[in-house]
Amino acid sequence: MNSIILIAPPAGGKGTQSELICSKYNIPHISTGDLLREASKEDEKLKEQMKSGLLISDDIIIALIKDRISKSDCVTGYVLDGFPRNIDQAKEYDKMLESVGSKIGFVFLLDLPKEIASKRIAGRLSCSRCGRVYNSYFDEMKPKEDNMCDDCHIPLIKREDDNEETYEVRYNTYLTSTQPLINYYQDKGILHTIDSTVGVEEAFDQIDKIVRGV
Ligand code: AMP
Repeated sequence: MNSIILIAPPAGGKGTQSELICSKYNIPHISTGDLLREASKEDEKLKEQMKSGLLISDDIIIALIKDRISKSDCVTGYVLDGFPRNIDQAKEYDKMLESVGSKIGFVFLLDLPKEIASKRIAGRLSCSRCGRVYNSYFDEMKPKEDNMCDDCHIPLIKREDDNEETYEVRYNTYLTSTQPLINYYQDKGILHTIDSTVGVEEAFDQIDKIVRGV
C-alpha cells in the first residue's frame, strides 16, 4: 500500500481519518503531533514551542520520522498525520523513500473552510493514552461516557494549543508552510482532495474508495 499522507488545516480531521484508515487497513498511525506531545512531557522547551503553535525544527521532525518508519510494523504501509508540514520536509521524505526504493501511495487533502475547522477546536478532547480524538459538539464524535475515553476509560484532556489565539498562529503557519504542499503533490499526480465538511463517515468513505481504487 505504501504510505498515506494527510494534509489538512489544524482541526481539519487528520487524526480522526487516520484512525479510521489505520483500523480498516491495519497499518500504524504516525502522528508527529502525538510523538512530539509525548516527547514534550520531559522537555519543557519543546512543550512551550508547541504551545505557541509554531512548527518544530525540521531536524527534530526528520529524525523522529526516520526512526519511526524504520520499525518493522511499517513495512506494509502507514499513515502520516501531520508530516510533512512544509516543502523541505516533503523533499527530505522523498529522499528517505528513494533510498529504500519505496513510494508515497496517496496524499489526501482534507478540505474545509477555516470557520468550520476553528469551531471544532472548542469541543475537541483527546485521550492522553491512545491519542483518540473526540468532539463534544458532534454527535458522531462524542465519547460514550462524558469526558471519558471509550477504549482506555480514562478522563479526556484538552490540548494546550487548542485555543482561539493559538489557532490563529497554527492556521497562519498552515497557510504559509503547509499549503504549498498541495501544489507539490498535485504536480506529482498523487493528490486527492476530500470534502471534509460532509462528516466523518462520509469523508472516510471518499478516502476508502480511492484507496480501494473503486
Ligand atoms: P498536530 O497534532 O499535527 O496539530 O501538531 C501539533 C503541533 O506539533 C504543531 O502545531 C507543531 O508545533 C508540532 N508539529 C507537528 N508535526 C510537525 C511537523 N511535521 N513539523 C513541525 N512541527 C510539527
